[in-house]
Amino acid sequence: MTHRPKSSTAEPRTLAEAAALVSTPDLDVSPDGTFGEFGGAHLPPHLQGPMAEVAQAYADARNDPEFYAEYRRLLRDVVGRPSPVTEARRLSAELGGAQILLKREDLNHTGSHKINHCIGEALLAKRMGKRSLIAETGAGQHGVALATAAAMTGLDCEIHMGAIDIAKQHPNVVRMRLLGAKVVSVDREGRSLKEAVDSAFDVYAQRPQDYLFAIGSVVGPHPFPTIVRDFQTVVGRESRAQLLERFGALPAAVVACVGGGSNAMGAFTAYLDDADVRLIGVEPGGRSAARGEHAMTMTHGTAGTLHGMATLVIQDDDGAAAPVHSIASGLDYPGVGPQHAHFQSIGRVEYVAEDDDAVLDAFQRLTRLEGIVPALESAHAVAHAMRLAPTLPADARILVNLSGRGDKDVDYVAERLGLEGVADETVR
Ligand SMILES: *Cc1c(COP(=O)(O)O)cnc(C)c1O
Repeated sequence: MTHRPKSSTAEPRTLAEAAALVSTPDLDVSPDGTFGEFGGAHLPPHLQGPMAEVAQAYADARNDPEFYAEYRRLLRDVVGRPSPVTEARRLSAELGGAQILLKREDLNHTGSHKINHCIGEALLAKRMGKRSLIAETGAGQHGVALATAAAMTGLDCEIHMGAIDIAKQHPNVVRMRLLGAKVVSVDREGRSLKEAVDSAFDVYAQRPQDYLFAIGSVVGPHPFPTIVRDFQTVVGRESRAQLLERFGALPAAVVACVGGGSNAMGAFTAYLDDADVRLIGVEPGGRSAARGEHAMTMTHGTAGTLHGMATLVIQDDDGAAAPVHSIASGLDYPGVGPQHAHFQSIGRVEYVAEDDDAVLDAFQRLTRLEGIVPALESAHAVAHAMRLAPTLPADARILVNLSGRGDKDVDYVAERLGLEGVADETVR
């Protein structure tokens, strides 16, 4: 079973056409949510009914033009879509070779691609008559985007967050509370993302009639990898139309970072049938390839089950998810979306890694040469584009999905570089 647009000729040629088509899903879905040998819904019995209900409600919404009309309206009027494509001219000139282009998801309201699927999930919850959204968050980025979508649509929102993360991510905790979300501190052994997922699932399982579990990436049991993917396809559809309109040509490569894989899925799906377009997912190489020092699921993961899905997992000998590291907290995940595992197995997408040092270099060079401060997650994709550009001809274009802005990361980077609280000069 392949998961591709029915026909590439159905892809929009102009921005006006793109705006009309944005996020009308035309990707195949298998009834059980499998992607080759990956995906599906591997759940305890008490969660099977509630997830089947979500799958049915989404299947209905997917065929409802009014549902998508409201979604498109919010993307345009609140998120600010379409996001622009920026030519990184100074960076490209310094590197030589191909031109680097940036799809500016960092300019979205709330600062990343996450708002695209959070708004979709909020509309689905309303359609299902749910009172509240519930989710986990690690660094707080998904929590803030979801709390924003809840505020916009008049839903309650409950965010579970590890006690350690709450202490580390104070501004995001305050933002979520100001947006009206209830923030639950998870003070259980570990006190981090994994415990937050378990805790949010516990509450959801007790009262599934009240909540929609709003997952933060293309992960989890069916139907979530499909739902989140569909709401992110807007990114690739727009960029494809923008490049055709401006250059009359498709890019040589599309590059995106991969944590759970939602921004990459959004960036790639519109190009699946364009055999000449290389699709490249960039994972966090971290500090080294030693166990616990990276999160390279595609190269170091093995087939397993995590958070209700069959996928690749970085795991211990006893099958438990192993500790992982990334300089970017949004990429710090021991699994990956099941459709990415499938894309790797059929060879349609290449998966590579960039380490923390290359990422910090890319962060600084994009900031200095283009005046754009990228999220550390997105800087992984920039780092790989910088490596690729000199190997390609000058008339080739590399499209980077700049998944988010780096405001959240400036204090950390300044500390790493020894810049915090230091002026360049003092006058008296
Ligand atoms: C959360 C996040 C990511 C990682 O999530 P994916 O699902 O892999 O896209 C990447 N970039 C930014 C800016 C994020 O906030």
